[in-house]
Amino acid sequence: MVANDDPFLRLESLIDHIECSIAPQLKNVLNGDLKSAAIRMRAELKNARIRLRDLEQRSRRLAESQADAIVNSAEIIDELEETKNRLKESFRSEEQARLAAERLSSYGRILDSSDNEIYIFDARTMLFLHVNHGARANLGYTIDDLRQMSALAIKPEFTEESFAKLINPLRKGVVSGIRFTTTHRRKNGSRYPVEVNIQKSVFEQKSVLVAVVLDISERRKMEDELRGSQEKAIAADRSKSEFLANMSHEIRTPMTAILGFSEALLDQGISAEEKLQAIQTIHRNGQHLLELINDILDLSKVEAGKLEVERRSVSPSGILQDVKQLLGERARERGNSLQIELQGSIPQTIQTDPTRLKQALVNLAGNAVKFTTNGVVQIVAGCDFENQQMFFRVIDNGIGISPEQMERIFKPFSQADSSTTREHGGTGLGLAITERIAELLGGAVSVASEPGKGSTFTLTLATGPLKGAPTISRLNTSAFAETSPRELRRGGSDTIEGRVLLVEDGPDNQRLLAFVLKKAGAEVCLAENGKEGVEAALSAWKKGSPFDLILMDMQMPVMDGYAATAFLRNEGYSGQIVALTAHAMEGEINKCLAAGCDAYLTKPIDAQTFIPEVAARMGLPSKYAATPILCF
Ligand code: ADP
Repeated sequence: MVANDDPFLRLESLIDHIECSIAPQLKNVLNGDLKSAAIRMRAELKNARIRLRDLEQRSRRLAESQADAIVNSAEIIDELEETKNRLKESFRSEEQARLAAERLSSYGRILDSSDNEIYIFDARTMLFLHVNHGARANLGYTIDDLRQMSALAIKPEFTEESFAKLINPLRKGVVSGIRFTTTHRRKNGSRYPVEVNIQKSVFEQKSVLVAVVLDISERRKMEDELRGSQEKAIAADRSKSEFLANMSHEIRTPMTAILGFSEALLDQGISAEEKLQAIQTIHRNGQHLLELINDILDLSKVEAGKLEVERRSVSPSGILQDVKQLLGERARERGNSLQIELQGSIPQTIQTDPTRLKQALVNLAGNAVKFTTNGVVQIVAGCDFENQQMFFRVIDNGIGISPEQMERIFKPFSQADSSTTREHGGTGLGLAITERIAELLGGAVSVASEPGKGSTFTLTLATGPLKGAPTISRLNTSAFAETSPRELRRGGSDTIEGRVLLVEDGPDNQRLLAFVLKKAGAEVCLAENGKEGVEAALSAWKKGSPFDLILMDMQMPVMDGYAATAFLRNEGYSGQIVALTAHAMEGEINKCLAAGCDAYLTKPIDAQTFIPEVAARMGLPSKYAATPILCF
């Protein structure tokens, strides 16, 4: 019998076997050998029963094992299902993880591409987990450096306690974010201001704090600049207000004297001597007012960058003498001796602007006289021939200037201290103007001073070419006389023989000018405005007896001086027309000349120079007739 595990096949083969075994016995039975056949059949049957029992057992075992197998396979299927699900799950989370990783790396890239500094640090240990490129670049640390560092390491303004105190509400979830400003310290030790925004988050399963940090250095710089310019604007505003207050004081003081003394003159009982003193006071104060206005005009030109200088041949010694004569009286009044000296030799002439040089020297020496009492004021002039530079040192032994005051005094409207104004007067404009003049003349102004001991202001200026130039090493009065026509004129007695048409609308000016002209011998005709002036001029011209000179005010009602002059020129009038105006600004000269005027005089007139200048224009034989009319 072939061994076979299939119980049915085995049963079948067993039956086959019994059949085969019993068949010969049955044959024996049929043959009559009953006993042995029965014995054999019993043995065969017993055998068959044993086999059958075995078979039963086997098939039972098989059935049992099959049932087990069925149970097992169900379990296996469950397990398989579970495994499959787990696999699916893990696949899903792996996918998620992959996506997360992808996201993270793209976030990382985004974070890195941000100009903001982004820090992720452990909420508990404060150690950095991630720091973006922007932050690394600014701090100068590598990511490996930073991963070893705590957030505190770059925040020098915090201690562990103070930082913990700040971020604890965030850690505990009491607030969703915190914002503060502090400074970050770079690897090289330098610091920069930052604005920090921290929020709580989770990163790599850790509770983290994400700080977005903005470097606010630029903003701070702009804020500082803004604050600076605001402060400057406020300071400028303040100094302008102070200036106005000073101006007001400066104008009111001489005005009070002028008004007061002119009222006094009306008093019948005033003596001749008191009358003279009153007139002198009025005149002096009027002069001061004029200086003030000129200073303001100069300053406005300086501020507008329009202060211009001319260059012509000038005698420095002549200028020095002018300055001495201008300030001599003031110096004497204060008990000062005003001395002029030369250091070595100086050129007889230099190329510069005489008016501006004199103005600068008068400013410096005027201050020296003003801030010195019973002392000595020296003006020492010298020349550096090699560098073609002249210097004028104005030395006094007066009140001096402190170093702090020195920082201010060259600024417009600034005085060393505001009590100076009360005590000494002044506008605080002189040095600002002088400094600008010096620059325009190719030099500079500097000062050395000691409070209580005195000051030395040094003015330098370019001389122009000096090769072979005649020099002088001693001052002599005749040298001065050549360049001081104004002083000479004071002694002169110029007269005017001729007819002058005065076109002027202001009654006071009409009276004054007519008085001065008539006093000099002129015959004066008056016109109230441009229209009357034109009529009078044309009528006299057509009658064959034209005026020798027309003095034309420029600002007038009905027809102004520009229109009247232009009209006359248009009619072919070729006589002398001299503009007379209070508008002492530079552009005014050109405007008058463009209208057709021959020359230009400013109001108020200077009685010393007015008549010679008018005479010169009339072509009268005067020893000063060649002197050009002083144009502003
Ligand atoms: P001002 O004299 O009209 O006030 P300046 O610009 O000429 O204006 O001078 C500015 C300030 O500098 C003066 O108010 C004064 O405080 C100071 N200062 C100038 N020169 C002298 C000097 N020689 N001695 C002392 N202080 C001086």
